[in-house]
Amino acid sequence: MNEFELINRYFRDERPRAGVALGIGDDAAVLALPAASQLVVSVDTLVAGRHFPENAEPAAIAQRALAVSLSDLAAMGADARWFTLSLTLPEADEPWLEQFSAGLKAAAEAYGCALVGGDTTRGALTIGVQVMGCVPHGQAISRCGAKPGDRIFVTGSLGDGAGALKVLAEEHALDTAERDYLRQRYYQPMARLEDGVKLRGVASAAIDISDGLLADLEHICERSSVGARIEVEKLPVSPALRKLASVKQCFQWALAGGDDYQLCFTVPAACIAALEALRADGLKAEPIGEIRADSGIECWLNGEPFVSESTGYQHFD
Ligand code: ADP
Ligand code: MG
Repeated sequence: MNEFELINRYFRDERPRAGVALGIGDDAAVLALPAASQLVVSVDTLVAGRHFPENAEPAAIAQRALAVSLSDLAAMGADARWFTLSLTLPEADEPWLEQFSAGLKAAAEAYGCALVGGDTTRGALTIGVQVMGCVPHGQAISRCGAKPGDRIFVTGSLGDGAGALKVLAEEHALDTAERDYLRQRYYQPMARLEDGVKLRGVASAAIDISDGLLADLEHICERSSVGARIEVEKLPVSPALRKLASVKQCFQWALAGGDDYQLCFTVPAACIAALEALRADGLKAEPIGEIRADSGIECWLNGEPFVSESTGYQHFD
């Protein structure tokens, strides 16, 4: 099977797609943005043995690659539209490609995001996904807009990614449903695209949590020239994680564990009513603290200073 047969068999899709004037098969894709909108673009690369185990299930690798990339669009409040795939393969392994492309197709459909091109080369297994989305002009949510007094929120629950690594590595007395939940949270993280879109015009700043809440909130703080105070007891932890470990361990994972792909965002006082309306309408987001003028992130647990175990992180300046 040569490169073109491979592309045609596994990745070409002739169905008409929104905004796609020309897709896979030409020198480049031609795409139409909705009127009065801006293009939002991001790329992420996953390297086998570094970002996922060599022998991970091909469908899970595909789903993870797309979700991780789309998570950045979610944090910008963008509507996901299209993506390109840069695929480096050691060989044209047909069963592997069959499962990989099926997983990718299912995920792309779930997110309403169309594959419009890519590149295929031989080498160590590496998957690059470039995602493209759009926002109404001027409405992208950046990391720069947080102001002292803004409330800090996170979507979903935190710490599941780090907890899942424990479950997958060790035997725990967890029943199957909880084990499955955590495994899924790790291998099939969901990009919070719908949440991001709802937060346009409400959040003053946002970021997706890939490296852990403290590390990622620090990026908002740096870019916005502010600090933060977190009330650790307010961090949302899933019931499955709570069964797995002590409450303090759960909070450590929630603060410093990576791979959660939730959104952390800030909301000014003037927009709290709008945020509450979104929550009443089903947005899963919890308040966890407040932006402050002083730099650094302070963590408090029930009124006492709380020290995160994660190394290399300064909690108090
Ligand atoms: P070129 O030599 O002009 O770069 P390629 O041979 O790399 O073209 O690709 C041919 C067509 O197939 C292009 O439209 C490209 O976008 C698409 N393509 C290549 N690899 C992939 C892939 N892994 N997934 C989706 N589309 C791909
Ligand atoms: Mg090419």
